[in-house]
Formats: sequence, structure tokens, C-alpha cells
Amino acid sequence: MTTQRPLHDLRLERIDGDAKLVAMISPCSFMYPGYGLQITVTLNGDDKHSLGDRKPMESATEAEVQALFDRVKTLPCKKCQAPTFDRNPAAIQTDYEGQCRKCINDAINSMMEAERQRFERELAVLKAEGKAKGFTHHVAAVIHLHHGDDYIYDFFTISDDAPSIERMIAKRGSVVTNDYRIEQL
Ligand SMILES: [Zn+2]
Repeated sequence: MTTQRPLHDLRLERIDGDAKLVAMISPCSFMYPGYGLQITVTLNGDDKHSLGDRKPMESATEAEVQALFDRVKTLPCKKCQAPTFDRNPAAIQTDYEGQCRKCINDAINSMMEAERQRFERELAVLKAEGKAKGFTHHVAAVIHLHHGDDYIYDFFTISDDAPSIERMIAKRGSVVTNDYRIEQL
């Protein structure tokens, strides 16, 4: 048990090209009995990567921590060349392999934005069709069920008469009938 105390404060550093790597033992290794040795490595104070070997914490040594740290490699992001972790491809099977965290976030954000725009376009087409059929309003209501998840119910109306809209919402079994947004077509 004499080796455990200093490991709390152990901090290893390494410069790897443009990357400054700092390794510390993950808090869970100390908090959970039987969790085993795991380190968390920070890259340039930002991106984090954890790696463990399940060796018992009770007998862990600084040399074992160093050996884990030595296994952590970096490579240039395949998009922007900034240093990023060379993550184990078997552990992380994504389309973003080899990209830094910023490029991954950028890619996810533009994918979500494209999805949102696609949704808006589809809704605009539906509204135009509804208007052509003689409807005057589009209603997006939140259906609140006694049991089960809330969901959005979209429909067209030929007036903005609140009582009749609330009746249509009630017919879906919603316990709340005034949680809706109405828009003129
Ligand atoms: Zn990048």
C-alpha cells in the first residue's frame, strides 16, 4: 500500500511534435475498488483519451503508468493536420477515424444542419400541398399522453377556430389540448 499514495499526484508529461501530452491516473481507479489502473491523457489541455489495463490499483507502480502512457500515440488529423490521438480503431469504429475533435465536431454540426434544412424543405413542400388543397392553417401540437412519451402531431385545418383545433388534439388522447403552434398557410 506504500506505493498507492504518491500515485494520486503522479503526473507524466511528454512532447510529441506539436502535441503536449499529460497523463494522470483516472479518478475512477481510486474511487472504485476493482476498477483497475486506468490513465487519462490530455492533449494540449483539450482532447482527452483514457486507457487502462485492468491491473489492480493496489499493486500499481509508476512504471506501469509510464508503460500505459507510452502506448498513447498521436498522429496528424487527416483533415487539418492538428495533432490528435491515434485511437484504437477496434474500439472506435466511426467515419471520423483519424480526425481531431474539432474536425469531428465540425462534421457532426454540418450534418445536423443539413438534416435540419432537409426537414424544413420537406415541411415547406407539405405546407404548399396543404394550401393547394384548400387548407388555411398548419398546426403542430404536442400530444401529452397519460402513459407514454409526448409526440408532435401535425395537421392542417380550414380555420383557426381554437375549440375545433383542441377537439382534434383531444381525439389523439392528449390530456393537454392547448399546447400547439398554429401558422397561416
Ligand atoms: Zn482536425
